Amino acid sequence: MKILVPVKRVVDYNVKIRVRADGSGVETKGVKMSMNPFDENAIEEAVRLKEEGVASEVVAVSIGLAACAETLRTALAIGADRAILVETDVALQPLAVAKLLAALARREEAGLVIAGKQAIDDDMNATGQMLAALLDWPQATFASKIAIAGGEATVTREVDDGLETFVLPLPAVVTADLRLNEPRYASLPNIMKARKKPIATLTPAELGVDPAPRLKVLEVTEPAHRQAGRKLKTVAELVAALRDEARVI
Ligand code: AMP
Repeated sequence: MKILVPVKRVVDYNVKIRVRADGSGVETKGVKMSMNPFDENAIEEAVRLKEEGVASEVVAVSIGLAACAETLRTALAIGADRAILVETDVALQPLAVAKLLAALARREEAGLVIAGKQAIDDDMNATGQMLAALLDWPQATFASKIAIAGGEATVTREVDDGLETFVLPLPAVVTADLRLNEPRYASLPNIMKARKKPIATLTPAELGVDPAPRLKVLEVTEPAHRQAGRKLKTVAELVAALRDEARVI
């Protein structure tokens, strides 16, 4: 069984996000970019399934600028066998990404797609769900455990009131939560080996998809700055402040 893992290049989670001066989006120039953290869990899980002998091949896919090849090299260093870059400079939205991934899943005859549950840049949490709908495959989102046997995936999800377990016939789409696993660090020998692994480049047109945005972003603004707190000396002052100043936000 072949596993397809979409990995997105996003602003590194340690970077303090700045909004562009013209309000058109988040500043990415001169900013450290990394693999979306949930996608690291997805790649790790796919590589473990290959190590267990459940998967035959792990294919990483990234869609976007040529620089996404760096993200793919990271996926290859973690253990993906090969990678596909769908190169475009169009501003991508989940539906376009899902259409491109659906075309690739069909072309590759993937048995399982493991995506991240959400990309930390746009927080859309939509691509995996849209992909399952487009392919008409079953889906389990926010997975904290995946087991594959007998042509089925048994997926555990952590929900507010406990654990939920789904059994999905394959092929299926699963999205990874942080609790799924602890991604390994890519070792230096594996980083070197990854340089020799193949990255194929395709265009959206070659996959028969028009990635043009369907939603218009009107404006991106910084969240309001929170006011500094203040220390009160007595309980009476606290009670008075709660009575006179506190309000539901
Ligand atoms: P989102 O729906 O945008 O929050 O993204 C959910 C997941 O879809 C991510 O964790 C990735 O696995 C995948 N994904 C989204 N955008 C891309 C992209 N441009 N390239 C590759 N994978 C992506």
